[in-house]
Amino acid sequence: MSVRHILAEKGNDVVTIAPGASLGEASALLASRKIGAVVVSADGEKVSGILSERDIIRAVSQEGGAALEAKVSRYMTANVVTCGRESEIDHLMQMMTDGKFRHVPVVEGESLVGIISIGDVVKRRLAQVEAEREALKDYIASA
Ligand code: AMP
Repeated sequence: MSVRHILAEKGNDVVTIAPGASLGEASALLASRKIGAVVVSADGEKVSGILSERDIIRAVSQEGGAALEAKVSRYMTANVVTCGRESEIDHLMQMMTDGKFRHVPVVEGESLVGIISIGDVVKRRLAQVEAEREALKDYIASA
């Protein structure tokens, strides 16, 4: 299964935040949207970075509550690993495992067109395993 299939199901919505926003604003956004990471972008299209709840925890553990005044650009990861619509789920799982992250923005050219989380990947993988199990059961029953 490819990223294209997942986006067809879940849609192309991506929550973004400007690099100049504060970590406090980013925290409020993550909480209100019930998500674990936000793509950092000045125009909502070009990816400048990614900020996850882990980055906010790191900032607060280093600087205390004052970190919530710091700019997102200071704590985001600027070197973002992205994928395209034709990337396969297995490849994404490998990327997430190797890179120890749980979110992969989907880009086409220079534009953000979606985001895949580890939850999206696990959900589809479980459905695939279940379908394979059912097919095997049917095969055995008919043999
Ligand atoms: P996560 O597990 O996605 O919450 O993120 C863990 C760490 O990896 C944080 O420092 C993020 O900024 C960073 N991160 C998250 N997604 C990516 C990505 N696609 N490429 C590079 N770094 C990432």
